[in-house]
Amino acid sequence: MILDNRYAGLEWAGARVEPDPLDTPRLLLINYDLAESLGISLKDHQWLEITSGHRLLPDMIPFAQVYAGHQFGGFSPRLGDGRALLLGEVVTPGGERWDLHLKGAGKTPYSRFGDGRAVLRSSLREYLASEALHYLGIPTTRALCLVGSDEPVYREQVEAGAALLRAAPSHLRFGHFEYFYYSSQPERIPELLNYLIDTQWPDLDKSLQGYAELFERVVLRTAELIAHWQAAGFCHGVMNTDNMSMLGLTLDYGPYGFLDAYDPGHICNHSDHAGRYAYDQQPAVGLWNLQRLAQALSGHIELEALQQSLGQYEHRLLTAYSERMRQKLGLEQWQDEDPALFRDMFTLMAKHQVDYNCWFRRLSRLEPEGELPQRLAALLSEPDAWSDWFVRYRARLALENRPQAERRAAMEAVNPKYVLRNHLAQRAIERAEQGDMAEADTLLQLLANPFDDQPDFDAYAEPAPEWAASLCISCSS
Ligand code: AMP
Ligand code: MG
Repeated sequence: MILDNRYAGLEWAGARVEPDPLDTPRLLLINYDLAESLGISLKDHQWLEITSGHRLLPDMIPFAQVYAGHQFGGFSPRLGDGRALLLGEVVTPGGERWDLHLKGAGKTPYSRFGDGRAVLRSSLREYLASEALHYLGIPTTRALCLVGSDEPVYREQVEAGAALLRAAPSHLRFGHFEYFYYSSQPERIPELLNYLIDTQWPDLDKSLQGYAELFERVVLRTAELIAHWQAAGFCHGVMNTDNMSMLGLTLDYGPYGFLDAYDPGHICNHSDHAGRYAYDQQPAVGLWNLQRLAQALSGHIELEALQQSLGQYEHRLLTAYSERMRQKLGLEQWQDEDPALFRDMFTLMAKHQVDYNCWFRRLSRLEPEGELPQRLAALLSEPDAWSDWFVRYRARLALENRPQAERRAAMEAVNPKYVLRNHLAQRAIERAEQGDMAEADTLLQLLANPFDDQPDFDAYAEPAPEWAASLCISCSS
């Protein structure tokens, strides 16, 4: 394994901090597939020792990154890795550089009032969600190893301490650049841009022009990411600029959630009283966040170039989103009347609280005529209200002459059967807190193949039970 920590060479960009080891660590999950693709081969006891902060590999330099961020619209001038450490950068067999990032490793100069720890509940939620998104084809940080412990960590109640080793090509956030901009260290911004170019985008020039292209990439990737989220019914929950990845990855999983019943204004974060990060706000927030990044980069990229890139955001997002929605409905080509068909579908779904993901999956079984498939009908509280819509949809499908079996297969390849619903995650967490990882393993197995029928697990492919609506996902982690 080739390992170094180039970031730690930028001493002004954070602080060297030794991990504070977790007491009584227990190995809970290792992502062997990911480890192999990164070219990391370790024994189980080494995973345990590294993730619990008891051991560093020879070339690791643990380093807490400093950043800032707009949190719920207000600016926080100094955040940073308050409980995470960049341990090193791995060079994969394919020549990519990936960060190894340990979350829950103890206090750093950026911990503010925090204890530097992470709890099992939130660490397992991050592990599950990052794997789920990855296998749905949504860019995300990945989970490599999870350890639990008996160390008490104080949140709303006492919980078990845990640590998560995660990996991503980079953990650079919009907030990194905001930190240097607002702390009047503008000379650091090109240095950080150069680091990003060296490690991720070596095809770009380190020049005004190269930086402009870099910003354009961030804009387009962010637009595509959010198009993915919207199509999958994923709500991030805390889209502060310090949680926005420069590579357009889903980063920092907190009180996230997938839509159950379709509700465009769904707020997954119970602390977000104003709904700033509601499901239907995510596209606009993405742009607002990019504008904050543009501000931070404004001394190093021409204003016109920044505006030109920002101007592409909406079009890219809408194109990517409508492309995915077209596939989700099993259509081969867009036609003029399709937006009205979609709009009316969403209106009905919202009115009748139809489960978002089950709807698309089960629609794949609709035949050109005859009764609705039973599992589709079971989603509709008032099937009669849908009669007109189904007539229009069937007429629309008939225009394409696509064989039903082919359409069904195409729809099933983009509409997951297994989705990480909150109540499923919660059940796995409750078992894990009692020392039983079997439920988490089952869930990970389903989420790794979300589009395949796994007949013994049909119970996992049902809409959320009623009690799930009262699940309150704590923002504390
Ligand atoms: P988050 O809301 O998890 O994205 O974190 C926002 C900021 O708070 C980041 O700077 C985190 O590193 C920091 N933070 C969150 N939880 C803790 C904790 N338990 N101890 C120290 N810092 C924390
Ligand atoms: Mg964060």
